[in-house]
Amino acid sequence: MIQEDAMNSLLAAAANFARAQVRCQSITEAEDAVTEIGRALAASMMQALASNLGGRSKHEGAYVECDCGKRARYRGLRQKDLLSIHGVVRVERGYYYCDHCRGTHIPWDDRQGLSSRMWTPRVKELVASLCAVLPYEQASKLLMRISGLSIEESCAEQIVADVGKALRREEAEAIVSAVDTDWRAYCTEKETRMVSGGLHRTVTSLGRKARRASSRQ
Ligand SMILES: [Zn+2]
Repeated sequence: MIQEDAMNSLLAAAANFARAQVRCQSITEAEDAVTEIGRALAASMMQALASNLGGRSKHEGAYVECDCGKRARYRGLRQKDLLSIHGVVRVERGYYYCDHCRGTHIPWDDRQGLSSRMWTPRVKELVASLCAVLPYEQASKLLMRISGLSIEESCAEQIVADVGKALRREEAEAIVSAVDTDWRAYCTEKETRMVSGGLHRTVTSLGRKARRASSRQ
């Protein structure tokens, strides 16, 4: 995905930048400064890539097929703010409208696994994993500490409800392969059973939370 030479020159530039620009008196100050720079850098790169992924270049054509069997017509680009692991990014993607059934379609969102809400699949995975093992308030504090992302309790509840619904639709085995298809190759049979067991407990715990969250909505 990234050329080794390009990566090395970026790392060298980052090290030079840190030496020249960051003033710190302790390891803690250094950690905090690097965290701040790292997050700002990640946000900037994420926005650049997100803009490239959406936009006019991904125009799907004048029409897409609608669920009703007719064709939905292209109506231009629509903006959307997404909350990614690296902060909020703005994307533009093609919007289609069906005159027959008044259905709307944004094929780009479907391909990216986005719902009408703003969270990316990676954010939902992270929030759901934390909420499976911690109460919402603690999960949200920990999320802020490790990623800088701020997610309100009501949003975390919605994510858990969404993910919980998806989980209930599938068997635990199918989820294992969706989450990670490679780990089995590196695990012994006993480890595989342990991972499956752990995942099963996570799914069960998420299911309970999702049911509570849905009953409150
Ligand atoms: Zn239609």
